[in-house]
Amino acid sequence: MSFANKVALITGSGSGIGAATALSFAEEGAHVVIVDCSEERANSTAEKCKHFGNKVLIITADVSKKEDLKKIIKNTIEEFGRLDILVNNAGTIKEGKILDGTLMDTFDDIMNVNLRAAVLLTCLAAPHLIEAKGCIINTSSITGIEARTGYGYPSYTVSKAALNHFTRVSAMEFASSGVRVNAVNPGPCTTNILVHAGIPGSFEEMAGLTALKKVCEPVEVANLILYLASDKAKSITGCCHLIDNGMALV
Ligand code: NAD
Repeated sequence: MSFANKVALITGSGSGIGAATALSFAEEGAHVVIVDCSEERANSTAEKCKHFGNKVLIITADVSKKEDLKKIIKNTIEEFGRLDILVNNAGTIKEGKILDGTLMDTFDDIMNVNLRAAVLLTCLAAPHLIEAKGCIINTSSITGIEARTGYGYPSYTVSKAALNHFTRVSAMEFASSGVRVNAVNPGPCTTNILVHAGIPGSFEEMAGLTALKKVCEPVEVANLILYLASDKAKSITGCCHLIDNGMALV
């Protein structure tokens, strides 16, 4: 799966799945664009990617802001003159329930990061991806497929369900241009997002909810993303790929 001379842009690549994905692309020869709202985390991933000898561009940006999204594409094209792979990965999760009246406290923030940013970045990147006959991978979630797995986090699950459907409709629209669009839908994965959101339950307890009795490592999700971005997946578009240790089965 060589990505030599390809340019891969990964949002939310300062940590977790995004960081593992940036590192894997760099290892496979790609130039990588590291996008994160945390400069410290973006720098940390960039330092690791640089060991592989390809170019690394760091862009500190908040993907919920339209001006920042414009900057991301502008800086990428100025630096590399092309964009081959877009990974819409940045995400956030916050509690907010219907019945206790807190749903709308978090709804807009979550939609802006998890859905609107992916939609807008797709639009802004479109001409460059078409030129490169590139591809898009959206990091969605099992919660976008199985509502019960996101109980208590309705804004999050709705944002991911909408991202799944956006994956399908954008795959249809891009198909005649040779651009493929897919989503990955992880189950619980050992990253900071669940810890930072104060989601109750240890990774051990979450493992107990899956068929294989384990959780994912970020690099396993990265492996799937790289596969979907590679020529080996040239017949795959518009699909949402569970990577959940069989959580949806039980
Ligand atoms: P993470 O917290 O380790 O990484 C998320 C990164 O995104 C962080 O570095 C953060 O700074 C960045 N980010 C957040 N909001 C941003 C914004 N507005 N602008 C720019 N950067 C922003 O978490 P992760 O688990 O690696 O999350 C990556 C994706 O995986 C998310 O879309 C998440 O919903 C999805 N996901 C995670 C799990 C899991 O169990 N970890 C399961 C399913 C889906």
